[in-house]
Amino acid sequence: MKKVVIGKEEWCSLPELGLPTIKARIDSGAKTSSLHAFNINTFEKDGKKYAHFDIHPVQGNRKIIQSCRGLIVDKRSVKSSSGDKEQRLVIRTPIVMGDESWNIEITLTNRDSMGYRMLIGREAMAGRTLIDPDASFCLGNIEEEEIIKHYNIVPASNNGLKILLLASNPDLYSNKRLMEAGEERGHEMRFVNISQCYMNISSANPEVHYRGGELLEDVDAVIPRIKPKMTFYGCAITRQFSSIGAYCLNSSLAIARSRDKLRSLQELSNKKIPMPTTGFANSPVDTKEIIKMVNGAPLVVKLLEGTQGRGVVLAETNKAAESVINAFKSLNANILVQEFIKEANGEDIRCFVIDGKVVGAIQRKAAAGEFRANLHLGGTASTVRITAKERKVAISAAKAMGLVVAGVDIIRSKGGPKVLEINSSPGLEGIEDITEKDIAGLMIQAIERNIQKKKR
Ligand code: ADP
Repeated sequence: MKKVVIGKEEWCSLPELGLPTIKARIDSGAKTSSLHAFNINTFEKDGKKYAHFDIHPVQGNRKIIQSCRGLIVDKRSVKSSSGDKEQRLVIRTPIVMGDESWNIEITLTNRDSMGYRMLIGREAMAGRTLIDPDASFCLGNIEEEEIIKHYNIVPASNNGLKILLLASNPDLYSNKRLMEAGEERGHEMRFVNISQCYMNISSANPEVHYRGGELLEDVDAVIPRIKPKMTFYGCAITRQFSSIGAYCLNSSLAIARSRDKLRSLQELSNKKIPMPTTGFANSPVDTKEIIKMVNGAPLVVKLLEGTQGRGVVLAETNKAAESVINAFKSLNANILVQEFIKEANGEDIRCFVIDGKVVGAIQRKAAAGEFRANLHLGGTASTVRITAKERKVAISAAKAMGLVVAGVDIIRSKGGPKVLEINSSPGLEGIEDITEKDIAGLMIQAIERNIQKKKR
């Protein structure tokens, strides 16, 4: 067999996966080969196991998506470039380089943040190639416009929807991902700044206007991502979009309900969803009673308006609890007093719920000497396997709020999972990064599904 002379990067083809042209980095320092894949699922057919996955075959272009399937031959624990170990599926498929073709094994992983969609390690090249590490594209280079022609680009289809992302900062990771995920799926996406919307609320002809007077109409769907400070106005605009017939991924009612911590806990309690024992009082004379009600110190005092862990204080003795509560009250702040779940060990779990399903979960651990697990306070996140009970609690909590998309924070107590909080605009960065799932894409799919349902 003739050996193929290749450089450190080459164009190759994986015909059985439907990938006519893909740029690969050749790295004899790596043993295994890997391919960028997301939305990985497995299935069985005729006694064989297959992986079904999506790939953006062209670097830097997320609009081109190819769905592939490959025969699974193994599952391997691989150390990624960041040093972490991860379990990856291994598929076997023919590769074509130059005039030669042979079978190689490739692990599937999310290489989205890396320079190449494919990496070919020494195992795949053994005996087949001669590598010139200083050269590039020994088998010929291809222009980007050419490659795009090799793929069937999902056209901005006729059934593409007009979707508005109603938020405040287009540069946030979550907002950028939602725009991208919608465009990838052929929708017309538009970022709309909440504070620049205004409305005509006359019942005969409700309207939403934007900036210099433009009328926002024929909107199919709205993704509200309202920051806490904008809750009041953001909910009003969301409601207005709903009254002009747009489908809102979270309703203004559900958002407003979940933003009020006290009200959320009352709703959870009505639905018998477990949460830490919590007290609330307005008058300073009841301080001691309230402390007794949650079984005394140590206990947690929470400012009702607080976010990202600010305004959450641990009082270790009854005396300290009394002082903190009275201090907050003298500032006329609304507070909750809650039993302290010590055994949680500074950890909590964020469950990302979409349309009645937990699509991803991460565990957050507080920094040393801290009991609050918030990432903004130096907490770290990692993967976690949640129990069936935790899954059920997260789903019921989102449902109790009426939220289609929700981040449900759960704490593990001796008595089982307890809900701490429900977020109507959960961030995507941590969860996508750690679970390697296309959560933004799943949110867009929920819109497609629910609009279909509404039409039927
Ligand atoms: P915020 O909305 O400001 O994030 P949370 O109620 O979620 O406030 O609390 C912040 C963090 O503090 C939680 O993520 C959790 O790690 C910790 N925490 C909150 N309540 C309790 C509690 N009752 N017992 C133990 N830890 C708690």
